[in-house]
Amino acid sequence: MPFRSGFVAILGRPNAGKSTLLNALVGEKVAIISPKPQTTRNRIQGVIHVPKRNGKGGGQIVLVDTPGVHKPDSSLGRKMMVEVREALEGCDLVLVIMDVARKLDPRDQFAIDLLGRADRKVFLILNKVDLIREKSKLLPLIEQYRQLYEFAEVIPISALKRQGLDTLLEMIIKALPAGPAYFPEDQITDLPARFMAAEIIREQVLVNTSEEIPYATTVIVDSYDEGERLTHIGATIYCERDGQKGILVGKGGLMLKKIGTAARIEIERMLGAKVFLELFVKAERGWRDSRQFVEQLDWRRQLEQRMFEQGSDNPGSDNPASDNRGSKNPGSTGGARHRHSIKG
Ligand code: GDP
Ligand code: MG
Repeated sequence: MPFRSGFVAILGRPNAGKSTLLNALVGEKVAIISPKPQTTRNRIQGVIHVPKRNGKGGGQIVLVDTPGVHKPDSSLGRKMMVEVREALEGCDLVLVIMDVARKLDPRDQFAIDLLGRADRKVFLILNKVDLIREKSKLLPLIEQYRQLYEFAEVIPISALKRQGLDTLLEMIIKALPAGPAYFPEDQITDLPARFMAAEIIREQVLVNTSEEIPYATTVIVDSYDEGERLTHIGATIYCERDGQKGILVGKGGLMLKKIGTAARIEIERMLGAKVFLELFVKAERGWRDSRQFVEQLDWRRQLEQRMFEQGSDNPGSDNPASDNRGSKNPGSTGGARHRHSIKG
């Protein structure tokens, strides 16, 4: 049996469970999750190392999580849809993930239309089967989905309860071509720790705020210094209005403290190191509609910029903006996350 490998894009509407599936298959948290739509804003690669067993060949799956498919109404939304298309471009297999607890509607067709006519396999993943008591209810649903597209396989799973995942992994490996490992054994994502820290802070904003604030917020890590005993991280939470800023800071700074403490604890767990986290809040009117600001949020771009500033003589080895297969060796500070960097 040859070693198989390839890039597998996850496509689906907001809240279908794409990021939950990514984390479940990687076995660690590489993408943040929330019940609020549009939690994921960039494509994120998670690496799954599948060992050889029972005469079956091993392999490496690079699973690409994407923002939910929606009709964008801002620069941010358009950028998110560009991320979806870029993930689809270079992949070997697509997993279309649907929430079985929801009825089909025209927005599902809109998502399917993105598949285009490219000649590659597409699996339909029926997620959240834990919410369906009578499994026979799935059959008419599968029939409806099959009218939308000619799926190579239909696989029911629960990403949350980790049901059906072994079957899914096996089917994915079978569908991939013989190929090399794209990432080293212990690497779990291309997302560098520095940017995961920003995501973890944003997740705490999502958890602790409501209404329009989750959508109007973004986080940029301004400084990241790994000291011998302490990692200093400075980050800014951007919102759109002074009123939102007031809520994010809270009475006597309580809300910001709550967000900061929860985020710090999780970042410490991710890094396996003590962290000093300093948070700022800034109102940046209309940032979601500013193409320039939104482009600046792209972590692959930020990484390139930083390498350029640091005068790295090796930026050609990875050019994330043009290479859909991602950066394999993304810089030094807060470099890509490896499995053994995580404690507990
Ligand atoms: P995404 O927007 O597609 O990335 O969806 P997320 O992974 O962020 O999940 C959206 C919500 O659905 C979260 O509240 C998850 O806990 C929930 N969810 C994801 N998978 C399952 C599942 O298999 N069963 C149930 N019951 N909930 C799930
Ligand atoms: Mg997501």
